Amino acid sequence: MSVPTPDPGGEIVIKGIGVCTGVVIGPVFLYTAEDSYVEEYAVAADDVAQEIGRFEDALIETRRQIKQVQDDVVEAAQKDSANIFDAHLMVLDDGALIGEVIAEIRKSGINVEGAVRIVATRYTAALGAVDDDYLKERTADIKDVVRRLLQNLSGRSISIFEQLNRKHIIVANDLSPSDTAAMKKDVVQGFATDLGSPTSHTAVMARGMEIPAIVGLHDITQRVSTGDEILIDGNKGILILRPTSERLEEYGRVVETRRSIVTGLTTLKDQEAKTKDGRTIILSANVEVPEDIDAVLSHGANGVGLFRTEYLYLSKERLPSEDEQAEAYEKVSSRLSPAPVIIRTLDIGGDKFLSDVRVPNEMNPFLGCRAIRLSLAQPDMLKTQLRAILRASTRGNVKIMYPMVSNAGEIIQANAILKEAMNELQEENLPFDENLDIGVMIETPSAALTADVLSDHVAFFSIGTNDLIQYTLAVDRVNERVAYLYEPTHPAILRLIKDTIDVGHKQGVWVGLCGEMGADPVMTPLLIGFGIDELSVVPSAVPLVKDVICNITAKEARELAEIALLARSAGEVLGHCRELILKIAPEILELTG
Ligand code: PEP
Ligand code: MG
Repeated sequence: MSVPTPDPGGEIVIKGIGVCTGVVIGPVFLYTAEDSYVEEYAVAADDVAQEIGRFEDALIETRRQIKQVQDDVVEAAQKDSANIFDAHLMVLDDGALIGEVIAEIRKSGINVEGAVRIVATRYTAALGAVDDDYLKERTADIKDVVRRLLQNLSGRSISIFEQLNRKHIIVANDLSPSDTAAMKKDVVQGFATDLGSPTSHTAVMARGMEIPAIVGLHDITQRVSTGDEILIDGNKGILILRPTSERLEEYGRVVETRRSIVTGLTTLKDQEAKTKDGRTIILSANVEVPEDIDAVLSHGANGVGLFRTEYLYLSKERLPSEDEQAEAYEKVSSRLSPAPVIIRTLDIGGDKFLSDVRVPNEMNPFLGCRAIRLSLAQPDMLKTQLRAILRASTRGNVKIMYPMVSNAGEIIQANAILKEAMNELQEENLPFDENLDIGVMIETPSAALTADVLSDHVAFFSIGTNDLIQYTLAVDRVNERVAYLYEPTHPAILRLIKDTIDVGHKQGVWVGLCGEMGADPVMTPLLIGFGIDELSVVPSAVPLVKDVICNITAKEARELAEIALLARSAGEVLGHCRELILKIAPEILELTG
């Protein structure tokens, strides 16, 4: 729970979950999902009939969608919830409302989007002013239906983030990965949300952008207004509203200390990630878009251990063509060559969606048709992506990785589609690397427990702890209410990681780790002690992890791992890890909070 601590100067300190380190001070921009920008423009008298036709088409499509959602809910035996959609359908069938929109188009000579917005504002204002709870609730129905209508009319609403042109800290109830993808780093200095947890994809994006962020603040959107000055400390996970001058001074010193530590770590850039007794760890980076390669190079990573391809397209209206994909993959592989680049096939579903990919409406999207399951359900889409990756593989440094595999059959099916893609390219005389490595993410408990079976079909494993933790501990990775249960050092997780590494090595398969656990330098000795071959982390974490690797011996790491495997709780393990860091690289605790 967030506990406000008022002080006599009016300063308020609110505790949340820090998801990206760093401190920032600035004015709030309070964002609500309704802030999506809708284009409004004048229409000529001759085009009014056409505009009304667009309105009618959008009404039909919106009705169809609402019916579909209602049927899904009924099917899921949630009849009470299904009644909500009756209210939505009533809004759509309201002759008075429809008549007013048409009248507004005619009277004002504006497009239908503008007219819908004017009429909806008029209705919600009138209903909100009535002293009747039932009628007040209807405003929510109208807002919901209008949002859907506008979406159908414009195909895509333009994100408000594309409109922002002054520096702000975004405060929102929640941010979707598409919202985060639309943020421009030069104007968005940081963000804070009511909902969310450390491994939600939005938090992952924040770390990629290297902007301080705090999630899980519960009701921060109720406490601040646009323009309020706030300070966010991503290390400690605290947001300070109206910071006092003493507080600002204190933070000035903290920022200075951290800056000098980070500057000191830049000297490691060209140094190999090798323990004091000579064990080399491959230290790679996770990227979301080709532009991230600048950060990969400037932070001194060995290559890319995870290219999350879905982010390339999150802010687009449609899936990219084979050529567009090949160009993006080629950009990354050519800039990094000869360093390796692991390209992961689309991981859509869960908390990431694209407008053009038909993801069914599901009660449990993280357990549903996500990642490899969706790719296998839409084999043409997978084949297009595989062809594009193959075309970018001519330098011999590209590897392919499948996400969220839960049985060997999925790898076999995907590899069969890969074979078809290879045959096609051969027939078309298009070159590619015929010997490129295929790998699999170990991010479901079933994959970890049957790593020996999966190893028959792949050259490498990459442990996806973000999902492995959620699926093993039954903790939704984006739900802040259960975030306290999301424990990377839980004995169950340690055993799965250690066993996967041991089995991989026995089977001649190298083992990496690309979840957020690998980017926490406090965890580095433990993972080295388990025998991990590669760590793939957000670019900004590369110097911190390298610092730890270079200051430890493999022997010390093994001793820690042995103790950790005997521990009875996550807290006990964490205590041992922090103790060792304090001994070998205390500056890291200053940076990680
Ligand atoms: C993971 O699950 O650990 C992972 C790296 O994949 P993602 O965060 O994209 O689900
Ligand atoms: Mg994952």
